[in-house]
Amino acid sequence: MSALFDLTGRVALVTGSSRGIGNALARALAEAGATVVLNGLSTERLAKAEQLMSADFPEGRIRSCAFDVTDDEAAAYGVRWVEENVGPLDILVNNAGIQHRVPMLELDVKDWERVVSTDLTSAFLVGREAARHMIPRGRGKIINIASVQADLARPTIAPYVAAKGGLRNLTRAMTAEWASSGLQINAIAPGYIHTEMTQNLVDDEAFNSWILGRTPANRWGTVQDLAGPAVWLASSASDFVNGQTIFIDGGMTVVV
Ligand code: NAP
Repeated sequence: MSALFDLTGRVALVTGSSRGIGNALARALAEAGATVVLNGLSTERLAKAEQLMSADFPEGRIRSCAFDVTDDEAAAYGVRWVEENVGPLDILVNNAGIQHRVPMLELDVKDWERVVSTDLTSAFLVGREAARHMIPRGRGKIINIASVQADLARPTIAPYVAAKGGLRNLTRAMTAEWASSGLQINAIAPGYIHTEMTQNLVDDEAFNSWILGRTPANRWGTVQDLAGPAVWLASSASDFVNGQTIFIDGGMTVVV
């Protein structure tokens, strides 16, 4: 059974993995046996992340390539770099994402475009480049990191909600075009995850008790909660799972 989840010999690229959820997903894939390429914008942060993670794995299993996922040519360069320097790309995790909180009436179009291009267009750009290599080989896994906001809205985060909803349907569009070539494209939609980024929300008593009350599991998620689903969707265990968005949210999206 464990062979179904074994990623030994597979090459994975995780965008936005210099920190946060992407970093934890990269570690999970590496622990399942994959050679993992980390990515981010800041070369300094990326080098530090590569150095830190490399200490826990055999030499050469953790690599890094800095590129901007919102840029067409940079995305092509990044995927080409992996193919030429690490090996044929088996697994792509489109994780890079940003948030921008402001009421819609005050929202500048530049900020709208910045969020949509980082949280949605990037998955098309990097996904298209990856698929161009995966399709001739007849196999590949693409995992798009969405959010409960793929399905639910909240005030002040309109571009994020629109982008994550779009990402859910982009997952379906990729499936419609590429599944017959042996690719599985799915999405993970995390709920509220306790990370460095959300520590201030955890510390906010009112927000924290709203989250606990709103979540049937009565707790925040952890990055560890995302590891198993990510390994499953990256592995042969999910070879007939196509175009799905898996909500990892303690049940938040099934209750009102
Ligand atoms: P984070 O800690 O802010 O990390 C974001 C990562 O994305 C960093 O590695 C950053 O690189 C990279 N990045 C940003 N813009 C980029 C670009 N243009 N090109 C390449 N890399 C870029 O984020 P996070 O909270 O872990 O979130 C990761 C993903 O999970 C996002 O898609 C987010 O929407 C989703 N999510 C998060 C939560 C949560 O509770 N945190 C819940 C649901 C969904 P640098 O370090 O170089 O800036």
